[in-house]
Amino acid sequence: MGFPPNTRSFLSMIQDSETLSILLSTIARFVRERLIPNEEVVAETDEIPADIVHEMKATGLFGLTIPQAYGGFELTMEEEVLAMLELGRASPAFRSLIGTTLGIGSQGILLDGTEEQKRKYLPRLATGELIAAFALTEPDAGSDAVSLRTRAVCDGDHYVVNGTKRFITNAAQAGIFTLLARTGSEPKGAAGISAFIVEAATPGITLGKRDRKMGQRGAHTCDVIFNNCRIPVANLIGGVEGQGFKTAMKVLDKGRIHIAAICVAVAGRMLDEALRYALERQQFGKPIAEFQLIQAMLADSKAEIYAARSMVIDAARRRDEGLDVSTEASCAKLFASEMCGRVADRAVQIFGGSGYVSDHGIERFYRDVRLFRIYEGTSQIQQLVIARNMIRAERA
Ligand SMILES: Cc1cc2nc3c(=O)[nH]c(=O)nc-3n(C[C@H](O)[C@H](O)[C@H](O)COP(=O)(O)OP(=O)(O)OC[C@H]3O[C@@H](n4cnc5c(N)ncnc54)[C@H](O)[C@@H]3O)c2cc1C
Repeated sequence: MGFPPNTRSFLSMIQDSETLSILLSTIARFVRERLIPNEEVVAETDEIPADIVHEMKATGLFGLTIPQAYGGFELTMEEEVLAMLELGRASPAFRSLIGTTLGIGSQGILLDGTEEQKRKYLPRLATGELIAAFALTEPDAGSDAVSLRTRAVCDGDHYVVNGTKRFITNAAQAGIFTLLARTGSEPKGAAGISAFIVEAATPGITLGKRDRKMGQRGAHTCDVIFNNCRIPVANLIGGVEGQGFKTAMKVLDKGRIHIAAICVAVAGRMLDEALRYALERQQFGKPIAEFQLIQAMLADSKAEIYAARSMVIDAARRRDEGLDVSTEASCAKLFASEMCGRVADRAVQIFGGSGYVSDHGIERFYRDVRLFRIYEGTSQIQQLVIARNMIRAERA
């Protein structure tokens, strides 16, 4: 499955609704015909089958956001969100492989990389030949990312990196890492943090054992340990020290809108399943969908999904207009991820005992979506960002 011949060349900066709808319906069909039927296999084996990964690459999914000049489709943020509203209807593990690569794993290069860095890496990321990971979190630096301690010391035409990164998605599959490390003499603070592109095959990198997680089987995380790992100076993103934290925050602003779109999509999937079940399941002589207490759960979920969808689209449009979307990205991620948790909980409730046992996949989604409130900034961190921006604006 792929886009019809010749479509790819004019998919760049999709302006006409017809081309966009071809893209979206191609993704929707791929989700329906290939991803959803393989969800159970992924959950059981903890792996995405190789033929599915191959089809994801052939469909062009890894190149959605990469500029056409480097072989991608160059979707705007709004278009990316619409694509994620389709892709996100399948198990989040599928999205994790693609979304981490085209999102937090590679956006640092795209947003702040030098022309040479873009030419070297983006084309291989666009085809999916290179999988990318984002290495910010450390054992003692999670929400307080500025306190990271991994150090990169300049030594001639290389930096020597030492430190440990924790919970790194895609680490085992990654061909490159976007690494955040401390450079220069600044012992602390954001100004001493730089971003690097690190090729995974570089000597001095070892991976910890795969983390055993609550959900999202098929998406893997582990520690990444740097021990006197020598990275060429040419791989300092943008060629300037001290800009890494700013790069990471830009990457996360975009990532938060992306994750919020995924939350809307998964919530929509769970609600569809719950509605179907409520219409089929009979108790007290009629479908449970006819009970008003069930209807309240369905209606609240529908309204909240609609609200989150509207927020995500609005935040994406603002970003496309070049506006600072720090507040809107955090609002969308906070509301959409919390909403997704509530919808998952109601879906389990509507399925009753069948929601708690694993027959219908609802308990799997319940576990899978719990992560959305934690990574790329916990809900508390989104609240802090929103309030900090409000206070700063009022005082300005
Ligand atoms: C499956 C998975 C995949 C991940 N993938 C990646 C990845 O690819 N790359 C990467 O770099 N990281 C990744 N992470 C890390 C993730 O981003 C962090 O787990 C997250 O940012 C929270 O950090 P922490 O786990 O250290 O929690 P902590 O920061 O220790 O937080 C613990 C609790 O304290 C709260 N808290 C902390 N500070 C405050 C405060 N000031 N005010 C109020 N409450 C506060 C938090 O909200 C949370 O509830 C991943 C994590 C998981 C679980």
